[in-house]
Amino acid sequence: MASVSLKQVHKTFPNGFEAVKNIDLDVEDGEFVVFVGPSGCGKSTIIRMVAGQEMVTSGEIKINGKQLKEINPKELSMAMVLQNYALYPKLTVEENLAFGLEKRGYPKEEIEARSREVAADLHLADIYNKKPKSLSASQRQRVALGRALILKPDLLILDEPLAGLEKEIRESVVQSMAKKHAEIKNTILYVTHSVKEAKILASQIVVMKRGEVIQKGTYKELY
Ligand code: ADP
Ligand code: ADP
Repeated sequence: MASVSLKQVHKTFPNGFEAVKNIDLDVEDGEFVVFVGPSGCGKSTIIRMVAGQEMVTSGEIKINGKQLKEINPKELSMAMVLQNYALYPKLTVEENLAFGLEKRGYPKEEIEARSREVAADLHLADIYNKKPKSLSASQRQRVALGRALILKPDLLILDEPLAGLEKEIRESVVQSMAKKHAEIKNTILYVTHSVKEAKILASQIVVMKRGEVIQKGTYKELY
């Protein structure tokens, strides 16, 4: 379970640039929130702050009513794919996918079943035994996404996870992510440039401009 709330969140970078201003946002458990808006409007900065990768300058972020630093990792499963992801270079695609579940002590059968499922959804089955250096950028990016999806975390934070993928693969992955979310009903924060992705995936769309939220609502309400 994961609800997220932001109250009057601001972020000013050390160079004085005010990237995020006056953000109030409530995300209920099970919502799929999609952040859209022009490049540089602060989308990544917001989700990086929720993910604990960046400090807020002022204001408050709470997950399940608690500040990030008060949360015991054992009570919240969180996974993220940010722009600066890295795969394990010496592990195969299958081993990269399995790593997080192995670390968490899942049984072998469950790990194998989930790996196969994620590999099928993300079109990775043909490259299961390859290592990252022999993969295309699109394939690597899908492995990074797969490593997060396979955990079925309470809170999933994704920064443009499908940018740069081939059109057909992207459409198919969007469909399978929508289907999986309907089953698992975890909480997802998702940044994209694509209103089309937002339409299919979002329960709530947050539209940003120059560091501020200018609109939020369902696709029907906004478009
Ligand atoms: P988006 O994800 O919407 O493209 P970002 O959140 O990545 O936007 O960035 C918002 C703005 O903050 C951009 O103008 C970016 O250049 C700036 N920015 C991001 N990180 C830093 C940083 N570490 N120092 C200074 N400015 C930054
Ligand atoms: P994107 O547009 O893909 O979101 P950005 O260029 O905003 O990527 O950010 C990439 C990285 O560079 C981030 O780690 C961000 O913190 C950093 N960054 C972005 N803009 C600046 C900046 N003006 N000064 C310093 N670091 C920055």
